[in-house]
Amino acid sequence: MGSKPHRKLPALEIGQYDGGSGHAPSVQDVHVQLRDARSSRLMHARRMRATQLKGLGRLLVEGEQELLDALASDLGKPPVEAHLTEIDIVKHEVDFALLHLSEWMEAHHARVPMMLQPASAKTEPQPKGAALVIGAWNYPVQVLLGPLVGALAAGNVVALKPSELAPATSAVIARLVPRYLDPRAVRVVEGGAGVAAELLELEWDHICFTGSERVGRIVAEAAARHLTPVTLELGGKSPAVVLDGNLHAAARRIAHGKALNAGQTCTAPDYVLAVGQGMEKLPEVIHRAFVRFFGRDASTSRDYGRIVNRKAFDRLVGFIEDAEIDRSVTVIGGRHDAETLYIEPTVLVGVDPASPIMQEEIFGPLLPILRVESLDEAMQFINARPSPLAAYLFSERPRPHSAFEQQVRAGAIAFNVCNLHAGMSTLPFGGVGASGMGNYHGRFGFDTFSQLRPVFSKTALVDTLKIAYPPYRKGKTRVVRSVNLGSASKQKLEVNPGDKPGM
Ligand code: NAD
Repeated sequence: MGSKPHRKLPALEIGQYDGGSGHAPSVQDVHVQLRDARSSRLMHARRMRATQLKGLGRLLVEGEQELLDALASDLGKPPVEAHLTEIDIVKHEVDFALLHLSEWMEAHHARVPMMLQPASAKTEPQPKGAALVIGAWNYPVQVLLGPLVGALAAGNVVALKPSELAPATSAVIARLVPRYLDPRAVRVVEGGAGVAAELLELEWDHICFTGSERVGRIVAEAAARHLTPVTLELGGKSPAVVLDGNLHAAARRIAHGKALNAGQTCTAPDYVLAVGQGMEKLPEVIHRAFVRFFGRDASTSRDYGRIVNRKAFDRLVGFIEDAEIDRSVTVIGGRHDAETLYIEPTVLVGVDPASPIMQEEIFGPLLPILRVESLDEAMQFINARPSPLAAYLFSERPRPHSAFEQQVRAGAIAFNVCNLHAGMSTLPFGGVGASGMGNYHGRFGFDTFSQLRPVFSKTALVDTLKIAYPPYRKGKTRVVRSVNLGSASKQKLEVNPGDKPGM
């Protein structure tokens, strides 16, 4: 770690986190200050949004080494992984937002039915206001600063609550944010569940939460008290079905998807469903892919991460121990070291679908492989369980692709790859059912943090609505209804997705 020299951070430009008082403000103070900034429309102008986005871009470039060091300290995250899956992904989101900001902010005309003419109608995205973003520890940069991009682009002021379980990254973000972003617009509030609960007591205009299903429910309940809209980015057991095609490439891609961040990735293939005959070799081929990536002893590889803490480590080792005493399960791998929180990438064959490892998100480098007889059985297996964040199918044939697309309920579907969809600014990222609600990335993040407001305008100088006022005599009703229906049926709907048809 730390081969690059530390670049000097610029002097503070826009003010201290504590507002110059010398004291860290309370959660309530932060909330009041952000709500004031919201009321003063601080972030409305395009220029201000772009300035903040550029500040975030600079934070990621100039604070890069600090972030890399923190990620290494929290998760043993190898620098290449940290670049690809954390820093670069957010940097790309920032660039993408800056490139499209004007277009996203545009109002769109909506057609007005003949009966309501003369008039004009449009939709215009408005900032929701003050947003709260709560992050998880596994990608502590990406899942905190990623939603921030959409929130800033949409003109919101934002409170960021990093995960306390990635303390080094949380501290670096808390230090860097006030140096690069206007503290009236973005505040970092560090802390654990207690602080998150305090934040959730308060009224926000949008909450974006990344984390577990359990806490997601707590967040949704708290948001409901204020009727606050929520985006819940949760996890789940994302299956990888292997049906046909290049088995070796499939094995490498599944192994890579699983080993990333030592399996602590929300979209990681949680388990494999190997379909039919000819899959006997799959466990061994996947294990060989792990060995090719990290050597015979992955603990010596600089490219392999560690488990976040002892509690998570013990939970995962419990799964390995269960498998080792179960004679029907073959464990390929399974070595671990509590001191360094290392767990070897491990394949488990013959796991009972009713066993504990198949009931909860594994969130570690353990990969159960189960055999099923057909694609239909695989899809039934998936659909009988809570909807996962992603479902993967390895097959080169179009019919299985369309069956999978039509029948499987998941946050995302991907063919012959794992995780990659989650890094694209042109695709919405989010779950369905138990894996979450709402989405973000690129334009979808902008939309999530915007209210698409309709504006309708009609002159009253000449009262063309007279025809619609009571009393509704027989002839009048007929005229009103015929004009209205006629105009609606002939109306051509706008093709732009941001546009809504006229009333
Ligand atoms: P978590 O739910 O334990 O914690 C997430 C956040 O919630 C943290 O900031 C934490 O401080 C806060 N929190 C904890 N207890 C709380 C409470 N009682 N009230 C209010 N807030 C509370 O999740 P985690 O362990 O940090 O993350 C792992 C989970 O996140 C996995 O399920 C993973 O799949 C999911 N995840 C999803 C995505 C995604 O984008 N969909 C990304 C990363 C992780």
